[in-house]
Amino acid sequence: MKETRLEAFLYCTQCKQEHHHVIGYMNDRISEIQCRNCGRLLSLKIDLAHELYDEVYRRIRSKPSRMTEEYRSDVSRFLLNLPARVVSKPYRVFQEAKQIRGYFKKYRVNKR
Ligand SMILES: [Zn+2]
Repeated sequence: MKETRLEAFLYCTQCKQEHHHVIGYMNDRISEIQCRNCGRLLSLKIDLAHELYDEVYRRIRSKPSRMTEEYRSDVSRFLLNLPARVVSKPYRVFQEAKQIRGYFKKYRVNKR
């Protein structure tokens, strides 16, 4: 799961004119829009469980073909990178789990 921010020039209903807004995304979905001028925040409901399920499902589906492609393109590099991947995987999984836990906390707070 990934949280990203973009800036856009949008019309603010509170300021009654166009201003810079920060748009927050959770994966590909807009989670919040905030006016940089007045600070008005529009939070949109994000179904985190659904986002997580979607992502895990996509990863599992694409994994075998991804590994086959890498194997086909450069066998020696694929084999050399394999031990490093196996070693770094638990750390990455741990980091990602920590990040996802943070998202659940944040979005639970926003719902109240
Ligand atoms: Zn505004």
